[in-house]
This record gives sequence, C-alpha cells and structure tokens, in this order.
Amino acid sequence: MNNRIYIANWKMNITSKEAKSFFEKFLVLYKSSANKEVVFCPSFTTLVSSVQSKLLNNSDKIYIGSQNVSNKKLGAHTGEISVGMLKEIGVEYCIVGHSERRSVYFESNEMVNNKIKLLIEDKITPILCVGETLEEREDGKSDQIVLEQLSSCLKDICPFKVVIAYEPIWAIGTGKNAIVEDISHMNTIIKNHMNKLGYIDKQFYILYGGSVNINNLSIIDKASFLNGFLIGGASLEPESFWGIIKK
Ligand code: PEP
Repeated sequence: MNNRIYIANWKMNITSKEAKSFFEKFLVLYKSSANKEVVFCPSFTTLVSSVQSKLLNNSDKIYIGSQNVSNKKLGAHTGEISVGMLKEIGVEYCIVGHSERRSVYFESNEMVNNKIKLLIEDKITPILCVGETLEEREDGKSDQIVLEQLSSCLKDICPFKVVIAYEPIWAIGTGKNAIVEDISHMNTIIKNHMNKLGYIDKQFYILYGGSVNINNLSIIDKASFLNGFLIGGASLEPESFWGIIKK
C-alpha cells in the first residue's frame, strides 16, 4: 500500500523567520511514522531557508516542495524559477496546476505538461492539482474536466511517480468540502484513468484538498483510494497541521 502524504501549501504566507519558529514548534510535536510523509511547500524565499534548515534535515520523512516552477528550462524569462534551480537547492516535490495559478495566472494544461516533463527529467516529484469549478460541477461536467486535465497534463510522458491532488475549486479556502461520496467517486475515476494511462497503483498517489481541517478530516478520510491531503489554511499553524497528520 502507498504511504500517506500530507502536503502543506503555505501559499504567499510565512516568511523565513516565521518558518523557523514554525518548524521549532512543529518538530517538538512531530513523530515520524513508517507510512506517513510530510511535505512543506513554502514561498520561494522561505523555500531556500527551509531546505537549508538543520532542524528539518535531521527529521525523518519530512520533505520540501515548491509551489510552482517555470515551464521553460532556462533563459530570458524574467521573474521565473527553473527546475534546475529547485534541484540545486534540494527541492524534492513541486506543485503544478494549482487552481490559483490556472485562474489568476492563466496557466494552461499545456504549460503544466511542460513543467511536469522538466520536473521528471530532474527527478522532482510533481504534485498535479486537478479539479472543477462550481459552474462545471453544476453543469455535470466534473468528471470530464478532471479527465481532460489528467490526460493533457500527463500527455507524452512515460509513467513516473506522481501525486494527483483532487481539489474542487469551489472548496479551496472557502470552508466548503466535497462530500465523501463525491470524493470517492472522483478518486475512482482518477484511479481508473491513471491505470488506463499505464500507471500501476504504486506510481501515483491521490490526495484531496479543499478546506480540510481537524474537524472534517475523519469524514473525508473515509473516501476510497485516498492517500493523503493537500492543505492550505489549516497548515499555517504547527498544532493544527500536526493534529491532521497525527489523526
Ligand atoms: C490549497 O491551497 O490547495 C488548499 C486546499 O487550501 P485550503 O486548505 O485553504 O482550502
């Protein structure tokens, strides 16, 4: 059985100084477990200090991931960070296709596909976010949208280790959750599609994200084929994030 993965997406929160204090508190609480992995995805500047942090380097099963990466390998791309730059500092995971990047920064499936190709060349594990808007859901198009995102983002790539985060867009940062039956349904659709694309079960992880917290975790956790969570708001405090992992 696959490990469970708990990913903290800090978005544009938590400076390097705040991260140091977060990790000091978190590591007092943290106990590693054979089948649980924890990934912190800080902002680019906090990423550097987090990777270099002695505190984290001595911790078992804690990894650092980026929230984004360029879809270009190198060159004249002002403001971008390349996969090589992430690799150089020891980043092991990278979120791609987050809905905030798709909607606010117009990131297309094609761009996400390019990012994934570059990431796997450098052996950084992609965390691919997929999910439908409220309008698409109400139009009964959720399955179609997610399948399209999976096929396009993973196009022309041989199977490799990938984390798929199903995040219904209307549930991100809103306090609303998908019901467990809907998550199970989507996870089944994702699993079957990944198998159809040639992935064996050990090669992909299915996570849920969207307003997960300590109170709704136990219900969501009952969803089929679930390997963990992608967590925004509830990962910003050490006690709350550890509470979720521990549970
Ligand atoms: C996210 O950022 O992907 C996310 C799921 O955020 P939140 O947990 O705050 O909804």
